[in-house]
Amino acid sequence: MSRFLGEQYQSLEAYTPGEQPRDMQYIKLNTNESPYPPAPSVVSAVPEDEVGLLRLYSDPTAKALKEKLAGLYSVGPENIFLSNGSDEVLNFAFLAFGGKGAVFPNITYGFYEVFGDLYHISYEKIPLKEDFSVDYRDYCGQNRLVVLANPNAPTGMSIPVSQIEEIVRTNPETVVLIDEAYVDFGGETCLPLIQKYDNLLVTRTYSKSRCLAGGRLGYAFASPALIADLEKIKFSTNPYNINRLTLRLGEATVDAEPYYQEKCAEIQKTRAWTAEQLTALGFEVLPSRANFLFARSPKIDGGQLYQELKQRGILVRHFTNPRICQFNRITIGTPDQMEALLAAITQILNEINERRSFCI
Ligand SMILES: *Cc1c(COP(=O)(O)O)cnc(C)c1O
Repeated sequence: MSRFLGEQYQSLEAYTPGEQPRDMQYIKLNTNESPYPPAPSVVSAVPEDEVGLLRLYSDPTAKALKEKLAGLYSVGPENIFLSNGSDEVLNFAFLAFGGKGAVFPNITYGFYEVFGDLYHISYEKIPLKEDFSVDYRDYCGQNRLVVLANPNAPTGMSIPVSQIEEIVRTNPETVVLIDEAYVDFGGETCLPLIQKYDNLLVTRTYSKSRCLAGGRLGYAFASPALIADLEKIKFSTNPYNINRLTLRLGEATVDAEPYYQEKCAEIQKTRAWTAEQLTALGFEVLPSRANFLFARSPKIDGGQLYQELKQRGILVRHFTNPRICQFNRITIGTPDQMEALLAAITQILNEINERRSFCI
């Protein structure tokens, strides 16, 4: 830290992204990226002359992409905000709507807390229930910014749209932000509710179900007035927040919707198979509607399993928070990757058994 950093940021604890190690080729199941490439039509979507056009700024209104998304999701372009990854929508939303404070679960996406700290918003973290579910009643009538990931991360568990509606209905004076980063893997979207409630903000990302994490593209749905607020913040910070190439990739992605539907269905199938196998190995697996599983085994410490897998070239995500430190979050990869994971886990558990019987 230099001596120039503003005092208000000196104790800020930045978000820790999942590791992206370069020391060897890992089976990467730690940051919920897609194991599949973008659709072939997306891979070839950026013509050479678009690269030449990089000398010009990108369209700050992202008109073409907004219109495509509006068509796909049956909303108006005025209901859509586009961002450099959905982390940027979250950033802007905390900045714009966090004035009365914020509330979110104690176990959820780690960035919410960072944005709360960054903007000196007073926030409350509400504990998940014993079974790791969100009790929607905790979020009714809060009258501060409510932020919920649905499905939640890292648990993968979701709550029904009827409960989301209760939360939105009972907080009419503040924004309710529903982060639908994982909704395409079997969750239930609350998107239609934006027509009925002017305080609902739904965020989405291209990073997971659209195989485009490195492209940095996110978006949000809401009433035109809420979208205008976000645009105001964007035009006050970085009007050209999405580069030309990514805009083209985003448009081609909308056109390739059937490809992504198919990949999401494959991931759900692989998820069900992996959950079954882990359960057979003695793991407790939370009911996930996302592209990852959150699982713990009574036979091995969560941190140890993470380490042993890493030594075998498989990366999963481990959190040190005491409530969840026995778990690992495992991104759903290809069927082959999941077989390799299960073979490694089987081997690790066998070695533990052998060591135990040797001691006796
Ligand atoms: C991955 C993730 C995001 C961020 O996505 P980007 O679009 O890559 O910034 C937001 N919310 C949740 C819950 C996520 O898991």
